[in-house]
Amino acid sequence: MANNKDTVELVCSIAELSSMFEESHSLDEFLDAVVRTVAAHMRAAVCSIYLFDSYDQTLVLRATQGLNRESIGQIRLKMGEGLCGVALKELRPIRKAVASQSRHFIPVPGSFEEQYEAFLVVPILRGLKRVGVLVVQDGQPDYFTKDDARALQAIASQLAGTIENAQLLLSLRELHEESSPEAPVGGHYKGRAVSPGVVLGPASVWSFRSRGGQRLEPAAPSGAGLVEFRDAIRRSEHQLITVQRETEESLGHEVAMIFSAQQLLLRDEQIEGDMLRRIETGRDAGEVVAEVFNEYIQLFAASDMEMLREKVHDLKDLGHRMLRNLSSEGEDDVGDYHGHIVISAEFLPSDVVKLVAQRVAGLVMVGGGMTSHASILARALGVPLVIVEDDGVLHIRDDSLVLLDGIQGSLLVAPDAEVVESYRSLLEHEAGEGAGPVQHETTHTKDGTRITLSANINLMGEVALAWTQGAEGIGLYRSEFPFLIRNDFPSEEEQLRIYLSILEQAGERDVVFRTLDIGADKLLSYLPAWNEANPALGLRSIRFSLKNRPIFAQQLRAMLRAGAGRPLKIMFPLVSSLEELRAAKGCVAESIHDLCEQGIHCNTEPELGIMVETPAAVELIDALARESDFLSIGTNDLLQYLLAVDRTNEHVADLYIDHHPAIFRSIRKVIDAAKRANIPLSLCGEMAAHPRIVPILIGMGLRSLSIEPRSVGAVQAVIMALDLAEAETKAAAVLRSDEIGQTLALL
Ligand code: PEP
Ligand code: MG
Repeated sequence: MANNKDTVELVCSIAELSSMFEESHSLDEFLDAVVRTVAAHMRAAVCSIYLFDSYDQTLVLRATQGLNRESIGQIRLKMGEGLCGVALKELRPIRKAVASQSRHFIPVPGSFEEQYEAFLVVPILRGLKRVGVLVVQDGQPDYFTKDDARALQAIASQLAGTIENAQLLLSLRELHEESSPEAPVGGHYKGRAVSPGVVLGPASVWSFRSRGGQRLEPAAPSGAGLVEFRDAIRRSEHQLITVQRETEESLGHEVAMIFSAQQLLLRDEQIEGDMLRRIETGRDAGEVVAEVFNEYIQLFAASDMEMLREKVHDLKDLGHRMLRNLSSEGEDDVGDYHGHIVISAEFLPSDVVKLVAQRVAGLVMVGGGMTSHASILARALGVPLVIVEDDGVLHIRDDSLVLLDGIQGSLLVAPDAEVVESYRSLLEHEAGEGAGPVQHETTHTKDGTRITLSANINLMGEVALAWTQGAEGIGLYRSEFPFLIRNDFPSEEEQLRIYLSILEQAGERDVVFRTLDIGADKLLSYLPAWNEANPALGLRSIRFSLKNRPIFAQQLRAMLRAGAGRPLKIMFPLVSSLEELRAAKGCVAESIHDLCEQGIHCNTEPELGIMVETPAAVELIDALARESDFLSIGTNDLLQYLLAVDRTNEHVADLYIDHHPAIFRSIRKVIDAAKRANIPLSLCGEMAAHPRIVPILIGMGLRSLSIEPRSVGAVQAVIMALDLAEAETKAAAVLRSDEIGQTLALL
């Protein structure tokens, strides 16, 4: 029966469809061509394509030859529903001689498909991603053969790539078309709440898939000439200086220079010259600004240098600012993103700081983990952040009204008035308030066992917040943040100023300075890229410092100098062997020696500790404890390495389980070792702020936790209500559990 069908030719025709797509004006038109071609070559009465809508997990009929065309867009099948739903769910082709005899067969109402008995459906997959299904039907029972099934599978696999490309091309085409005033597509994206707060505002979509795909919308003629252009430059400069000053005032002087790239670009003679020359020929200044900025955006985006590619947003922001100033709006508006919800494939820590400085209302990131450093920073700065997996959010039109719910973890596009109303009270509540400050000066369990609650600090501006929230000290100062948000290495003197300021703000309180923890998701754009296949397992943290001794020495010198005449604690991240600890301690000794020789006042007896973040450190914990003055368990990384789950990878986010029995057992080993060595121990991973986990940690014997300032009040409330004996019993049961489900049930 197969011999009357030209399946080989069909496979070739489908390959040609990719080029045919160029002539199609829409995905639907393209799919229509596909079903017509397949039906004709297979001599089948019906051919249809259903595409998978990953948001509501349904198959939607998108094209058909032979069924009622009015059903297009109307017929929706759930996963596992009907023969198509089963094929997609189980990722296998299904061939039926008489479809109506199958228990899965559901004739689609209004599609008149009852008349077609022979049925063949194959899933369309792109890797493991479900794209949709391709179906052929015919009135003659048992019409399709095994060979037909194989041919259709080959076609489906060709189609997957083409459909994906078609979607991509269409979206690019849309980007180039003048944005039409048509209403934004409504939609609801479910994601993970990373930083709390509920906000409503216009969307600002940064990129499609990569940081490179940026363009300034071509400006309508502004009517501006040379005079207005010069004035716009002056105003832009003034605004940038103002936003820089305000940012330093609120976040501290380590963010000095964060807008320097934009300031430099504004003063760049070549860019300015390019614009001037064209305006002098009599062209409209607005048009020229958009044109020249777009040329540089393309140039930067295509660069091999990460550092230049990163500047694309700066260029775009600056271009917008110039265009706004040319159209003489907002003389004093320093907040380019005021009230906006920025949606991007990724954010760098410096992006988060810049956006907060420019009064962004909320952030949406596609992929990434709760404990990625952009997430940590968003929480620290109190800006709502939701992570979604569906990159469909990158197609939301700029300026569409969106409602970001950083409590439930969702994003609503074009919410109707009723939805907005039901969110009203939450919207009126200030975003990211947290539970409020502590209610008691010190923290203890009901029976009086004292627990120390310290703060994890990323930026100097958070120190004041830590004290108002009631933290007793700084249990972890992430010293890499000043490095991350800058354009070049802070000098020893600059670092010294930062550390001194922190110690001054701390007064008598304890401060633990962690040495540079870069690498993995914390890369410095100004350092030549060292491309690694597995950066989380690569040259990061203490490994980086030990391989870059001059950078390490500068930092240690700055810390030792800042700690002159007062207690000083320095902590090394990601230590995995005694040799590494000894090498790091050796560097400290060398720096002390050098400083003393140079007659520079410094702390000559700092306490030196390590973060316990690797399974190797847990296994060697007694030996490491003997040679350390204190320990701190970094569970964000310990989880990642113990469970072999990348903390920034959304595809395995569901496996990044903080109540995994292996984690509790490892923590227990460290608690016991610290007791044996009689040295202080703290835990500074995110799980220390988890209200259901805190009782287990205390029950296991931890007496010191370091958490984000905004969580201190809530964690204190949990501890003050805690009965230690009960917590110990529960912790013992957790430690006996082998299963994740068992520990979860006990929390
Ligand atoms: C940790 O790993 O638990 C930790 C606190 O350090 P960071 O999140 O900065 O890696
Ligand atoms: Mg860590």
